[in-house]
Amino acid sequence: MKITSIETTVLSIPYTNGGPPTAFVGGSAWTSLQMLLVRVDTDAGISGWGEPFGHNACHALKATIDTMIAPLCIGRGADQIGELMAALQHSLHLFGRSGLVPYGLSAIDIALWDIAGKQAGLPLYRLLGGAGRTHVPAYASLLRYGDPHLVARNVADALDRGYRAIKLHEIAEPNVRSGREAAGADVALMLDTNCPWTPAQARTMSEHLAQYDLEWLEEPLFPPEDFAALADLRAQAPMKIAAGENASWVGEFKRMFDAGAVDIAQPSVTKVGGVSETRKVLALAEAHNVAVVPHCAYFGPGFLATLHITATLPSETVFERLYMDLEASPYGQATDAVDGLISVPQGPGLGHDPDPRVIERYRTHQAAPVIAS
Ligand SMILES: [Mg+2]
Repeated sequence: MKITSIETTVLSIPYTNGGPPTAFVGGSAWTSLQMLLVRVDTDAGISGWGEPFGHNACHALKATIDTMIAPLCIGRGADQIGELMAALQHSLHLFGRSGLVPYGLSAIDIALWDIAGKQAGLPLYRLLGGAGRTHVPAYASLLRYGDPHLVARNVADALDRGYRAIKLHEIAEPNVRSGREAAGADVALMLDTNCPWTPAQARTMSEHLAQYDLEWLEEPLFPPEDFAALADLRAQAPMKIAAGENASWVGEFKRMFDAGAVDIAQPSVTKVGGVSETRKVLALAEAHNVAVVPHCAYFGPGFLATLHITATLPSETVFERLYMDLEASPYGQATDAVDGLISVPQGPGLGHDPDPRVIERYRTHQAAPVIAS
């Protein structure tokens, strides 16, 4: 089964998030969510869908895939995923071991696993030897509001919608306090800071934040790959430390684990190298006795791939659902949590193909509109 073509399409979908447009991915505020859909076609008539970590980089990723990656894939065996991914990784290593190249390769790998599931007639989680879970518990991953009143309002709103676990993306203590007060003592509360602090600042903040009973503190340090500093913080911090969404390839997780940097590893299937590389990270994490809670800040094939991977984990694990309402989803209601649970698709491969009507309506050739902050 040979790869015959690869098509990339950027979608731009308006959203609401219970506050002002966020600026936490890519530096510019979004007024719409951009995602890059990647379709891999084969001579067997089976097509698979993938997605890189896109957002404000969708058009750069489209060029990366169209001009650098796709030409290396055409004519290659779609059902020899390990061999092809190793060859692509080797061919392109001099263009970057993190960033656009591994993100683009992640999209191809996800699409190849979608094809593999479709060929086998099995949903991806069962192809991967999953435990047969039909639902996974979701946590509401609130965007950064920077305002304690908006934090409280959106925490209350997420609880009303049935979520029982909530993650904040705040960096100021009053906003975290507001989140905990709105959530009450029984709701699991996590804090993701997206790499704002020096080691000294992070140590001070972790002590201030101890009173809020956080399930984990995520990415407290910049740069995220300073695993020695993260390990030092972890040794002193009064809560668990989580990180990993910015790591590409299993080797970076090896360095992270060897340093003792994290309690919880968070591979992003759209950055790390796809489903194949995520599986390696899962095995390595198990060998290091590190928990895994996959990252998910996307709504395309990366969302579904993360869902299937989460369903295969040895114990029930929360699934990150970015807390925003899209005007339309390529998968309809399949990306929505109901009573705090998201259904694992039971169709072959990823279980759903993107809705062609949504693709047609939201296809764009322009970068996301930016709001000056
Ligand atoms: Mg995060």
